[in-house]
Formats: sequence, C-alpha cells, structure tokens
Amino acid sequence: MSSTNNRRSCVVIGAGAAGLSAGAHLSQHGFNVTIVEANDRLGGRICQHPGWPTWGPIDLGAEYIHGSKTNLFELAKREGWQLGDSIYTFEDLAVKGDRNGRDYIHHRGRLYKMTRESECKDIVNTLKILEDINGLPYAYPDNAHPAKASPVLSLDADMSLKDYLDGRGDVTEEVRDLVRGVICQEMAVSMSLCGIQELARWSDCWVCGTDNYRMKGGYCLLIKYFLDQLGDGAKVKTSWPVTQVFYNDDERKVKVVNCHGDVLTAETAIITLPHSILRAGDVSFIPPLPDRKLSAIQKIHMESSHKICCRFRKPFWPDFGVILCSSGFMGQIHEEKRFSSYSMATDVAVAKDSSIITLGGKEEEEKKYDDESGCYFISGYQSGESAAKSEGMTTEERTKKFLAQLDEIFGSPECPTPATDSFLGSVGKHWSDEPYIRGAYISPSVGASEEDLRSLAASVGQSLFFAGEGTSLDMPACVEAAVNTGKRAAEQVMQSY
Ligand SMILES: Cc1cc2nc3c(=O)[nH]c(=O)nc-3n(C[C@H](O)[C@H](O)[C@H](O)COP(=O)(O)OP(=O)(O)OC[C@H]3O[C@@H](n4cnc5c(N)ncnc54)[C@H](O)[C@@H]3O)c2cc1C
Repeated sequence: MSSTNNRRSCVVIGAGAAGLSAGAHLSQHGFNVTIVEANDRLGGRICQHPGWPTWGPIDLGAEYIHGSKTNLFELAKREGWQLGDSIYTFEDLAVKGDRNGRDYIHHRGRLYKMTRESECKDIVNTLKILEDINGLPYAYPDNAHPAKASPVLSLDADMSLKDYLDGRGDVTEEVRDLVRGVICQEMAVSMSLCGIQELARWSDCWVCGTDNYRMKGGYCLLIKYFLDQLGDGAKVKTSWPVTQVFYNDDERKVKVVNCHGDVLTAETAIITLPHSILRAGDVSFIPPLPDRKLSAIQKIHMESSHKICCRFRKPFWPDFGVILCSSGFMGQIHEEKRFSSYSMATDVAVAKDSSIITLGGKEEEEKKYDDESGCYFISGYQSGESAAKSEGMTTEERTKKFLAQLDEIFGSPECPTPATDSFLGSVGKHWSDEPYIRGAYISPSVGASEEDLRSLAASVGQSLFFAGEGTSLDMPACVEAAVNTGKRAAEQVMQSY
C-alpha cells in the first residue's frame, strides 16, 4: 500500500451514517480521509442512550431497518446482527391489508385494529384517500406509472396535502385528523408543506419492502461496523463544526474551515450535512453552490421530531406493535421490546445530554428495578406540526404529557391512570434541540420533484460531492438512504480521477 502521504485525499463533513459510510468506502480504497463532525459524538441521527443497567441500548434517533430488500438488512444478516419482529406501518394497509392483529389506530377515544376492513368508517375513508394519493401521477411522465389515471390532478399540478383534502369535498374533520396524525407523523411533515405529487412518487420509489426491523443491539452496531472499516489513512475529528468550505475546481483543492479558524485541505470533499443545516446556510460555500442546488435546497423541507422512551414497573397494555394516533401528544406509540442480553457495541454514538428522567421522587424506586423485573417499555414518536408544539418544553413536561396520553388510551374505570402509576423513568430526545441537526428527515415537499433531489445529489465540479439521506433518489429519509448515498459519493470521488 502507498504511504499515507502519497494518497488521494478527501474531507468528509458529518459523521452520521452517510459520512461514515463514505469515509469507510474511501478509506478501504486507499484514500486519506478525514471525517469532521460538529458534535462531540458520532452517529448524527443515529444516537443511543445506554439504557438502564442490564438492558440493551435505546435508540433515540433511527431505530428500524425499513424493509428486507435493503443493503442494511443484508448487512445485518451477514454480520450476524439479531433482528426483532417486524412492525407494520399504516401505508402498508393501502397495499397489503391486515398483518397479524398487533397494530392499532387510536381514534376518537377508541383503539381500533389496523385493518382494511375496519369497523371505523373514518379509517376506511382515510385508507381510500391514501390509495387515491398513491395513485396520482407525478411531475415526470417518464417515471409515472402508465396505469395511474388521476381523478384529480394533471401532471403539471401540485398542491399541498391540506389543499388536496380541502378540494376533495368529502373529508370530515375526523378523517383530516387521521390523515394528519398518521400520514404526516410518519413523513414528519406539516399538512400545508406536504406535496401530494411527492407523496405519490415516494410511495412508488419505496421498493425495499414495507416491513420494519429493530436491531437487538441497536443502531450503534452500524456505527461500530463503519469505524472498524476505517483504515490507517483515516482520521475522525469530533467537535469540529465546519463554517466555510472553499473549493477550487481548476486546482482540485478544497479548504474546510471550522468555527475556531482551524483549517483542513484536501483534493475533494463529501458534504453529508443534514438538509436543515444546508437550508439554514450554517455553512458558507465559496464560491456559492450552483443556483439549481440552492433552489432545490430551499424547496425541500425537513421538519422536527421527538422521541421518548418510558420505563414501567409492570405492563398495563395488551401486546401490540404500534399504535398510530389521530390525536393526542404523540403520533405513534411503540411497544419497546428491550433486549436485555445486548449491550452497546460502541459508546461513540451515545447522547451525552440525555439523562434518565424520574418524576415525583421516584429515583429510589427506579433504582430498585435495576434488574429485568421492571423491563417494560413504551416509546412515543411525534414529528412535524406536533413536534413543533413540544419544542421548548422540558423533558419532564414532555414525559407527563405522554403519560397522560397513555393513561387516556389504557386507563379503565378501575385504574384510570395506569401509566402514571407504573412509571419509573424516561429518556428522550427532541431533535430540534440538536444544534447541528435540528430536524427529522426530508419530507415529500409541496412544489418539489425528483428533479430537485437530483440537484441535491449532484456533485459540483470535480471537488464537491454530496451524500446524506436527503440526497437519495430512491429511498429518502432513512439510514439505508444515508448509507447508500455515502457509498455513491465515495464512488463518484474515485471515478473523478
Ligand atoms: C427520531 C428519529 C427517528 C428515526 N427513525 C428512523 C428509523 O427507524 N429508521 C431509519 O432508517 N431512519 C430513521 N430516521 C432517519 C435516519 O436517522 C436518518 O435518515 C439518517 O440517520 C441520516 O443520516 P445522515 O448521515 O444523512 O445524516 P446525519 O445522521 O444527520 O449526519 C450528518 C452529520 O453532520 C453533522 N454536522 C452538522 N453540521 C455540521 C457542521 N457544520 N460541521 C460538521 N458536521 C456537521 C451532524 O452533527 C451529523 O452528525 C430517524 C430519524 C429521527 C430523527
């Protein structure tokens, strides 16, 4: 192997899944790689809490492998990572119907089984709307499915989900709540920013399967995997927030400057910044990025999300996979099967700021359950409009609101507050609080199209390359996208010589 001094060089900005994937790939191909990360931990939107003693890590960000036809699923199999049961999502219903009766919708004070043959008219109507949207053509005739004759749209028209529902004339407030609580929560987008053509396109391009698997060791397994792939030509620098990127294509030189004035130079750079950070202009590019890319950055939205995981002394719920909620604090509620024999594969992606919250002097009681006897968890997820409402709340306030929602769902006349009574502790993360991420993932945005994603993904000359979940053309908004685009950018760098 060539000496590290003679190797081709690349700076990778951001050490999330995309950055680590890109860095590992280049490093394996003999490049001198420096990965710079603003935060004091690695992983980006993969972030763990170590969990309670004797129990496995808790994923505060990405948690599931979405689909079994993915590279991640293959990687998990190859590496022998254990996967939990698959859970289902609402969108699947439009395609496949019921699964195994473990998933529910909470609507107007009642729990309904998630099934196409629901006794609840609102659920059936919501599914019909989803089917109609999925069947719409989108702005690219080449990609549009020929069988998709639109009852509502012409190819060049786009509108927000809100305007679409207003325009249908058959949508009650109850159904609107279901659409908002269920579809918008999953997509992490407000109704008024969600574009129906992109919704339709996303449903078509999601070809990796709709089953969802939790990794028993947590997503830190992936971080460790990539770190192990980094060779001796690779460096990782944390607490290194980039503020400026100078690039000169003629000389093939990139100069990256951080907020302290430290400088790194390389022949190329791979930018894996979260879309929110690019959109906010936290990093200046000199010269400025091309207009097409800048316009695409502004067209596509990335809203926030919040996750909380609560631990209970005993279970007070029937066995379930997921409950999707049309109202209430959290949009999704998941039964968290903890995997006690699994410990953290690495602690580099641990959130340093997330401590266990207990309420009302339960600290002592909490400690008494430091064995598997109190190993009962439920987590909640909210995004888009509802996550915006919980910005600025303390974790205690968020925990109390979630417990109140669980009491409402699972309470009975004999036991009206089972969640509050059984609560031991919680950990959570509101992603708006992460200064270098500030959001969930990109969303199907009104007025945007596949062309804009192509612009986001496009390299700039021979020196700047782009990766990250927001630059994926086929499966945006997930770890699979981040990993695949990281590898794609690394290959573009190699092919550019
Ligand atoms: C709550 C939540 C739940 C999710 N659940 C799932 C799930 O179950 N399954 C799934 O597949 N996906 C899920 N996702 C999405 C998934 O986490 C992301 O799509 C993926 O992790 C993004 O990886 P990335 O590398 O593109 O971006 P990131 O992970 O955001 O990495 C970008 C990195 O850039 C760094 N950075 C920012 N600014 C600077 C700067 N100025 N200088 C240097 N570095 C900087 C950031 O700190 C960050 O580490 C979830 C996301 C959230 C928030």
